[in-house]
Amino acid sequence: MSSTSISAETIARFTAIVGEKYALRSEADLAPHLIENRGLYHGSSPLLLKPGSVEEVSAIMKLASETGTAIVPQTGNTGLVGGQTPREGKADVILSLERMNKIRDVDPVANVLVADGGAILAEVQKAAEAHGRLFPLSLGSEGSCRIGGNLSTNAGGTAVLAYGNMRQLCLGLEVVLPTGEIWDGLRRLKKDNTGYDLRDLFIGAEGTLGIITGAVLKLFPQPLGHQVAFAGLSSVDDALAFFNLASSLCGTSLTGFELMPRFGVEITARNIDGVRDPLETPHDWYVLIDISTSDSAETAERMMNAVLEQGFEAGLVQDAAIASSVAQQKALWHMRESMSDAQKPEGGSIKHDVSVPVSKVPAFMREAEEAVMAAMPGARICAFGHMGDGNIHYNISQPVGADKDAFIARWHEMNHIVHGLVLAHGGSISAEHGIGQLKRDELASIRSDIEMELMRRIKYAFDPAGIMNPDKVVSLSHKG
Ligand SMILES: Cc1cc2nc3c(=O)[nH]c(=O)nc-3n(C[C@H](O)[C@H](O)[C@H](O)COP(=O)(O)OP(=O)(O)OC[C@H]3O[C@@H](n4cnc5c(N)ncnc54)[C@H](O)[C@@H]3O)c2cc1C
Repeated sequence: MSSTSISAETIARFTAIVGEKYALRSEADLAPHLIENRGLYHGSSPLLLKPGSVEEVSAIMKLASETGTAIVPQTGNTGLVGGQTPREGKADVILSLERMNKIRDVDPVANVLVADGGAILAEVQKAAEAHGRLFPLSLGSEGSCRIGGNLSTNAGGTAVLAYGNMRQLCLGLEVVLPTGEIWDGLRRLKKDNTGYDLRDLFIGAEGTLGIITGAVLKLFPQPLGHQVAFAGLSSVDDALAFFNLASSLCGTSLTGFELMPRFGVEITARNIDGVRDPLETPHDWYVLIDISTSDSAETAERMMNAVLEQGFEAGLVQDAAIASSVAQQKALWHMRESMSDAQKPEGGSIKHDVSVPVSKVPAFMREAEEAVMAAMPGARICAFGHMGDGNIHYNISQPVGADKDAFIARWHEMNHIVHGLVLAHGGSISAEHGIGQLKRDELASIRSDIEMELMRRIKYAFDPAGIMNPDKVVSLSHKG
């Protein structure tokens, strides 16, 4: 097991690997790396290392193995479950890949891009675009999150409906193991049935099995047509029926179908600069529909018109607005992506990142609202998300005038209520954001004994010394 203190000699040896300039120890340098976005976790660390090459990462891991030093990989630090935050009161060393941020190769013929683990997602998107290709992973944090973190959390985002999540977007990996050995699995093959899929073990492992230093990513043709619309509806049942209609008319050209409640639109218009409700009258529910076509702009326009016309005819859509410029398209997406931030000025917010089978979304939403309101009268539910994937960010804002600390103290109680319904509908308590520290104990309580045992055995096979991001996801000592 990793040790809880680190000697001056070990710090000097780590420093010698990356050089003084890239071994940070001052409080000011470390501070931003010890907290995460939501302020749920605050860790401590004696040292932050910024290696500049795979060989340096390997040397760091060899030394960590020898000295029993815990290593916490961190790339963009935008994770939402505390996986990238070092533990409080331990001597975890943070390993940041921010210097390893290159695009190594783009091959538009093979439709692949090879990037360092520290490449920023937005830079990967730009590099693909410069070659007339699309890298479709897109999320609110794309300006700061990095490929190693995206892969380690198996990130989803706004286009999963058409392109899948990070697991589907990756062909090969380069990983430094806890022992310091380098696994070069940077294969560019769509078909490769040669034994166990090691790549899939590292994707979504949240840095508990090794450090992803490079990846081969899949590219797609740049869409020629793109349409975004915003529609008002009266119920989640109608939203589901409308999703099925849009899905059958558009097939894989339906790239996004996002659900938003009236409360979410109201607070986003109130609290986020430049956001306004594009419809004239209020509706109980809204959907954002995103259509991309690879043959022509006309096809996308025709599809969007047909979707809305048939939605009106079927009595599902009450009102709708189609974005008439790229700026308007971005504004609609900005509204959706700012919904979580818009909750901050409203006081405390208790979050759930859950998924249920798409057909169960209306029943889940109804039952969850009933249960939450019964437990906490006055709670303001802001349940929005990727309806097409059955992924709902079931957020609850505190009742108006409530005490924030008293509200947040009920986090686990509300989780218990919402997650209980999710599980009853055959869903998942973590659709996109992972397990990290936030849901580690809950994971052990909802997965079967055999699943937990298999996870522990996998962890042990890669990291017998327990130095790789310890106590996140599954720990060797934790028996649930
Ligand atoms: C505004 C906003 C919107 C978001 N929207 C979405 C969304 O739509 N969909 C979604 O899935 N997520 C979303 N997220 C969550 C987050 O952005 C993603 O999980 C992102 O993929 C994390 O990348 P990162 O580089 O910031 O990783 P970090 O936060 O640095 O790390 C995340 C985890 O990965 C591990 N890790 C990081 N780098 C490596 C590496 N090189 N090798 C091994 N392990 C590593 C860390 O130890 C940690 O466990 C959002 C976050 C924000 C703030």
